[in-house]
Amino acid sequence: MSEPSFGLPHVYSGKVRDIFEDGDDLILVASDRISVYDVVLPTPIPDKGRILTALSLWWFERLADLVPNHVISSTDVPEPFRGRAIRCRRLSMLPVECIARGYLTGSGLAEYTRTGRIRDVALPPGLVEGSRLPEPVFTPTSKATTGEHDAPMTFAEVAATVGEETAEELRRITLEIYRRGSEIAAERGILIADTKVELGRTADGTLMLADEVLTPDSSRFWPADAWQPGRPQYAFDKQYVRDWVASTGWDRRPPGPELPDEVVEATRQRYIEVYERLTGDRWR
Ligand code: ATP
Ligand code: MG
Repeated sequence: MSEPSFGLPHVYSGKVRDIFEDGDDLILVASDRISVYDVVLPTPIPDKGRILTALSLWWFERLADLVPNHVISSTDVPEPFRGRAIRCRRLSMLPVECIARGYLTGSGLAEYTRTGRIRDVALPPGLVEGSRLPEPVFTPTSKATTGEHDAPMTFAEVAATVGEETAEELRRITLEIYRRGSEIAAERGILIADTKVELGRTADGTLMLADEVLTPDSSRFWPADAWQPGRPQYAFDKQYVRDWVASTGWDRRPPGPELPDEVVEATRQRYIEVYERLTGDRWR
């Protein structure tokens, strides 16, 4: 599952990334693996690691005035990883997945349908699949260890975990990233339904944006001209794969199903299309 290390000590492998250390720095390598419902599927999506890395780098630049980020270099990495790896600061990660939602879908919709809220965040009645929220909301979850699922957290639970002041910072930064990202994406005809970011601290305590940002693995991207509340939206992201695996009757327990070639290619095309629409560059 993980990569040859080219002489660098291996630190950790998540579902998608393999992490190596190089002195004080980390080398964060994005693979072509895809996970759905926290299970890595046996079939990779060609080019996915390069797309996620290029798109994250593009966004990190556009968010740098809002929050510093962990990137040191996109080129100073072992040659075989180039294009899908970054050299980054090694941070002490906060155990919170910082989620912002501007539209209602997925687990947020499921919870709202049961309770009328998302944890402690009250929402107006009458919202449906794909509804635009009156304003973006912060709906954090825990960061589960391997094999577990992330669980929704209230703001008070985040504060109890990382401290009140840090919790406020996480909420503010997450919503600012969502707003900035949404503005830029809207100019390109894309709605960002929701997104997840992760932050960590340097040894001197500076809060930094880490991991990946505003990618189709961490966000839901919808073409604005097709948006219509009340039904599932066309999505340039993992939702297509979630829907396909659900249609096989898979029970969400490992191992996940193999993806047929046409599903692999359709997924790859969605990732490429959102990269091209957002950045304005052609995928090569
Ligand atoms: P999990 O860790 O739960 O498996 P994941 O499958 O999403 O999550 P990946 O994205 O595959 O994980 O791997 C990236 C891992 O590296 C995450 O655990 C993330 O928190 C961590 N990470 C990202 N940036 C940094 C950083 N600068 N310093 C330390 N850890 C980082
Ligand atoms: Mg991740």
